[in-house]
Amino acid sequence: MDIPVQSVYPQRRNQAAHESHSQTQRNPIDVAAATLSHDEPRAESSARGHVIKQTVKSALRGVVAVIGPHRWRRGPCLLVLTYHRVLPKGYPARETEQPGMLVSPALLAMHFEVLKRHFTPVHLDDWLRAAKAGDPPPGRSLAITFDDGWRDNYDHAFPVLQAAGMPATIFLVTDMVGSHYQFWPNRLFQALKVWEPRYDERLDDETRRQLAALGVPLTCVGTDLTCEQIDTAIARCKATDDASMHGLLDRLEAALSPVGASDRPELDRDLVSWAEVRTMAASGLVRFGSHTRRHTRLLDSLSPQVLDDEIKGSRRLLEAKINQPVELFCYPNGDTSDPAYRRVKAAYQGATCTRRGWHAPRMDPYMIRRIGVHEDVTGTPSALLARVSGWRAL
Ligand SMILES: [Zn+2]
Repeated sequence: MDIPVQSVYPQRRNQAAHESHSQTQRNPIDVAAATLSHDEPRAESSARGHVIKQTVKSALRGVVAVIGPHRWRRGPCLLVLTYHRVLPKGYPARETEQPGMLVSPALLAMHFEVLKRHFTPVHLDDWLRAAKAGDPPPGRSLAITFDDGWRDNYDHAFPVLQAAGMPATIFLVTDMVGSHYQFWPNRLFQALKVWEPRYDERLDDETRRQLAALGVPLTCVGTDLTCEQIDTAIARCKATDDASMHGLLDRLEAALSPVGASDRPELDRDLVSWAEVRTMAASGLVRFGSHTRRHTRLLDSLSPQVLDDEIKGSRRLLEAKINQPVELFCYPNGDTSDPAYRRVKAAYQGATCTRRGWHAPRMDPYMIRRIGVHEDVTGTPSALLARVSGWRAL
């Protein structure tokens, strides 16, 4: 069932009211752009400089891949990896996805084969339970996680997990399961990719200004927009609040609405269904955690009712659907607040965040560090081993 965005973000009205009280404050999108602008890499780096940089990085990866495993902790410790989408090369869905979200099934199989030589695969909740009891598994353990509950996790990752006997946890956005819901980065990607100059006049000045603040001048949109430009815009949007982001997208999509259906990309169901979830759960290989009900970022501005709904409500729904205990939580976008953290701690065995690194028994189980893996940085065994070694530059 399609879930309209308006109905899944009930906090937007409160947010809009809050914004109207602070007319003198800068728009969150402008603030985000200003905050991030000094971190942006120089867009005008020369092609030669880029090649040299990549060559040096590649050489460093090779060195780290050889020496890294000898310097890793001997244990007990836990490496938690973050995956998102698993799509074969050439799939149309790849065209509107950020490179940092993707691996192919073949690459996933290679990752598992390489990692099993260095780590013992475990279920994340089993490891946490043992660590809490003071008896963590010896040595280096590995836990695989997938965020958001993509349908391709069932279509393409599940067969690879089964072939490798690799346990995994999938973090579901419970209200979106089985729906045609589009996460906002995909909505932004799709809107900008089909944009043409003839639609410019349908935008109001405020929307033009916000797009410019996000580094997306309208002269660049459409087929000329590069993945790097879209990545930059999405990264900047992540520093804004959900209400501002969805407001901008609503206006962009409204401006696009006269576009004929044949001009628009065909939308398939991208998210996993409950039947697919239950099939994976029945295998015993895949377990499920909560990623909130609506992928709501747990910022300070949320009311206690919304926090309860997102954190505890999602767990109740998930347990009822799969008839299994749900012990794990994953903070959307890594955002949390003191009230959110307290609620997660009261309801779950542990929670994963977006801080990069390995986890160890004495560390906070409600801020489990992970390392994100995607094909643009882990395409070879050397690159993978360098990546999981935790070197940020690699
Ligand atoms: Zn997510």
